[in-house]
Amino acid sequence: MVWGRRLNTANLGRLVNDALATLEEFGEPGADAGQVVDGPLNDPAARLDYATRGVRRTAARLAAQSPFYARRFTAAEVRTDKLDLAGLRTIPVTLKRDLVERPDDFQCADVKPFLATRTTGTTGRPAEIWMSRYEMELWPALGALAGLLRGELLPGDVLQVNVSSRATGSVHLNVAGCRLVGAACRVLGIVSPDEALDCLAERGATQLATVPSYLAELEVAARRRGMGPGDFRLRRIDVGGEVLSPSLARAACETFGTPGVRDLFAMTETVPIIGRTCNQGHLHFDLNTGLVEYLDLETGEPAEPGALATVVATPFFPYRDCMPVFRYDTRDVVRCLPSEALTCELSGVPAAGPIEGKADQLVRLGPTDVVTPRQIVEAVEALPTRPWPARFRTTVHDGRIQLTLPASAIDGLDEAEAVSHFADRGLDVDLALVGDAEAVALRHLRSDLHETSFASALMSSGV
Ligand SMILES: [Zn+2]
Repeated sequence: MVWGRRLNTANLGRLVNDALATLEEFGEPGADAGQVVDGPLNDPAARLDYATRGVRRTAARLAAQSPFYARRFTAAEVRTDKLDLAGLRTIPVTLKRDLVERPDDFQCADVKPFLATRTTGTTGRPAEIWMSRYEMELWPALGALAGLLRGELLPGDVLQVNVSSRATGSVHLNVAGCRLVGAACRVLGIVSPDEALDCLAERGATQLATVPSYLAELEVAARRRGMGPGDFRLRRIDVGGEVLSPSLARAACETFGTPGVRDLFAMTETVPIIGRTCNQGHLHFDLNTGLVEYLDLETGEPAEPGALATVVATPFFPYRDCMPVFRYDTRDVVRCLPSEALTCELSGVPAAGPIEGKADQLVRLGPTDVVTPRQIVEAVEALPTRPWPARFRTTVHDGRIQLTLPASAIDGLDEAEAVSHFADRGLDVDLALVGDAEAVALRHLRSDLHETSFASALMSSGV
């Protein structure tokens, strides 16, 4: 790893087996697994050195193998052996548009593609990312080691996966990770919530991986059916890809009997870089597999403490080899933390605030007055009707937010009470209501990627 050659995935597989054997014998995994997962990166000088070497190694390879970056680095007159973190700023960020328009230019010449995965987000045309066989062996092995080490995925676990089945990369990682650890995996997709609940309850699952909007549908369906913690044996819920509100997270913990909901950041384009949320709600990005920059939305320069920033990610070679991106601008917005020292359980790893939403969905009321999708999702999902997942639309009229909601979201409140609910959360809004039939059209969510089955069609027709 230090020299940046491709890792031997068979050896990593053996390391997983060693960790399993140690776990069996001593009740905890050994220190060598920890080195691979977290690295010696608690010291800021070591971190800077590691990141500089990672950037140089990655840029040197891309200059030789990636048509897109060969051109881009030449245009920016980059000397990859001299590149440092300050010098990165001369290289323009890569946008999703680049990937969508010129996907072939991103494929490295020295790698054979194996599996394609497409982005399944709710914004714009999908991007197609090819992954190599090496990547598809490497990432699950790293994930399995991290899972074992942190006690998150253990032999005997049953993982139920309720993300879009078309998210082939994510599905494969879950399946292969379970195989390495000796856990079981049930891939269901975005099926009817009742079907997924039946599987969770009757067929047993100890882990659930899904998206916040689908978790909301599961929570609402479980409550309607009068189900509670006694019906489940879940010990962990992981979500990602959308804003998770504290109201929904709390309710899901109560209903499913888990200590918390883990809010992860992972994105098809920037795999295997992963962000984890700590107990103080910060987002901590893994430092081993890549570099994460926080750039000011206006200037593109490193953002100041307290400012909103877009997350720009560079996965390092040899963690990524088939279709890598360099300085990929995710357009996912976070707020930079104040410069004080962190006190959370992940304080050794730098952090930002949680994902606030996509940059093009920010509501701008004035030069410094910006409302984020997270603020609105949290306020809507805190309504007493529990209108989950939140459906709304925001528009700006004469410098004021008009918030369109389905009428049932404010059932039991008169309009003044509803307006003051939002004012209490710092949102000065004018409300507009539409019929519930129009709710789904207000805001697209990942749970809208319904996957039908003959069984669910029969269930819903009452046969
Ligand atoms: Zn933290």
